Amino acid sequence: MELLENIKNVLEKYTDEFIQINDFIFNNPELGEEEFISSQYLVNVLKKHGFEVEYPFCSMETAFKATIIKDESLPTICFLAEYDALPGYGANGEPAHACGHNWIAATSLGSGILLSKLQNIYNGNIVVIGTPAEETLGGKCKMVEEGVFNDINIVFQCHIGEKTNLNQKTLAMDSIEFEFYGRAAHAACFPEDGINALDAVNLLFAGINCLRQHVTSDVRIHGIITNGGSAPNITPDYAACRFYIRAGSREYLNKLYKKVIDCAKGAELMTGARLRFKNFENSFDNVRYVKSLQSIMEKNLKKVGIENISSDEESSAGSSDIGNVSQVCPTMYTEIALEAPENVKVHEKEILKYLSSEYAHDKMNKSILAMVLSAVELSQNSNKF
Ligand SMILES: [Zn+2]
Ligand SMILES: [Zn+2]
Repeated sequence: MELLENIKNVLEKYTDEFIQINDFIFNNPELGEEEFISSQYLVNVLKKHGFEVEYPFCSMETAFKATIIKDESLPTICFLAEYDALPGYGANGEPAHACGHNWIAATSLGSGILLSKLQNIYNGNIVVIGTPAEETLGGKCKMVEEGVFNDINIVFQCHIGEKTNLNQKTLAMDSIEFEFYGRAAHAACFPEDGINALDAVNLLFAGINCLRQHVTSDVRIHGIITNGGSAPNITPDYAACRFYIRAGSREYLNKLYKKVIDCAKGAELMTGARLRFKNFENSFDNVRYVKSLQSIMEKNLKKVGIENISSDEESSAGSSDIGNVSQVCPTMYTEIALEAPENVKVHEKEILKYLSSEYAHDKMNKSILAMVLSAVELSQNSNKF
């Protein structure tokens, strides 16, 4: 407990500043890849606290990497910040922070900064990475591809969740766009001359709907038609649709991917409309957990006063680019319950009332404490983690 008291005393000096980060990002919501005000603000804060900052970073204008390197031979702990908002949640349809990424920014920066003030007890290097556009393109995917995590030993991140959960399932996900090219004809006078691209899209949906019976229960497949022709009296010569396909593991998703593509090939064969397909966004992997990190985080969450901790693999799961990070670097991703007076969930409008409130500030403090305490303990128990 002495170690915790020690860290708490240092945190108290900076709590107001960390609350300011939370509230500033909340009050300046920006969409993915457009987080210019947010990223500049966060970079300024990190520089003020003595971090070396690379900004922009990894060929993304709103990404940054902030480091305090004590000694290259020591292990490195990394905190991942997010700061993209969601479209349409504001009072007049403007973006707003309905997924609480303002809170992630404050929690991750707060952890990095607090750890930097504990050089006497933390024996390692510190990295804070600003990762843009989690909700859309998934900025972390490019970072993984470019080897950003190769010299990092452990990654930490907390996200607001419905429950505090150390084992929140996230699904591997691919995004596929299908386009079919047919031949236009007068739909009444010369239907025999037409090749109907929209029929191909409809048959693809039918094929996928049959496939649903014969997949594991973790699979989610959801699609929309993005182009279905221009007028009922013209046989559509072009039609297109987009799907997200998801599964609990990358391995199974790769098998599912082939089956979905086969449905599209079947639709092409049945109609004669030529098929083209591509992934239209980055692919996400499922989050892989490390038992020893889960245990240390659980112990420390309890120490800082977070009691109701679940380690169930919840069945309701989305997908996140932190999954890709966890496949290449040991990652402790934790969902933290807000415990607001109403049961509010991320991506609900009602949660906006609470994400710059005392509930968010309290959970920010506790999450910072739990992550920093874990980092200090890991650095004290081993030179290599
Ligand atoms: Zn979200
Ligand atoms: Zn989120």
